[in-house]
Amino acid sequence: MTIEPGRFRQAKDKEQTSKRLDHPADGLIPVHWLHTHAYCEFQLYLEKAVGVEAEPTIEMLAGAQQHAFLDAEHVKKAEVELTIDEAAAKAQLEAVTLVSRDVSVRGTALYGRIDEVVFEPNRIVIIDDKPGAQPYFTNKIQVWGYCQAFKETYGPVVPLFGALRQEHSGSVVWLEEYLEDHDNLVTVTVNRIRAILAGAENPQSSGNSRKCQPCRYKESCPACVGQL
Ligand code: SF4
Repeated sequence: MTIEPGRFRQAKDKEQTSKRLDHPADGLIPVHWLHTHAYCEFQLYLEKAVGVEAEPTIEMLAGAQQHAFLDAEHVKKAEVELTIDEAAAKAQLEAVTLVSRDVSVRGTALYGRIDEVVFEPNRIVIIDDKPGAQPYFTNKIQVWGYCQAFKETYGPVVPLFGALRQEHSGSVVWLEEYLEDHDNLVTVTVNRIRAILAGAENPQSSGNSRKCQPCRYKESCPACVGQL
């Protein structure tokens, strides 16, 4: 028999809301930029500094559809409304598992919305749903970015874990505790992104034809390598 965890909608928390207002929105970076940066720094530069536009891929559109489906399924099953602090405390005190989706985070450097957060009595798991089953570094650093922003927004008292889940099968393909090294890596990467966008550092191209071939910027990218 499978025991379904309790699902809840994220309620607004006055304290968290005022904390979030302390951060100037224009100084923050969306967490998903970490993914783009890890794939190819030059792609991030083209997209965010030069303003080159590219059509979304079929995979991106299918992923957005699947996310919307999972969010809608969650809302149907969510029985109560809790703040993140209330959910974390309830999981610990009552030894239950609680789940919320589309959880908003706003840290000192990063902001975004987390696909799913699982509150267990002794840990909190930050989950990102991806179409593929491979736990690539690009996906891991995005999860670590969510972990940093979650930690700074909500100050959890139990260990944080990051996880990747294959969105169609629901299988967890990677699970790892979020540690200081991951936090430092996220901070270094955010600083590097800021320096590139400010023109203080030159962006590096991927130099990898296996990345350039499927890249949606390849037609307008002067650094593209490999046969087109
Ligand atoms: S074509 Fe290659 S170098 Fe250019 S943005 Fe895409 S991945 Fe980067």
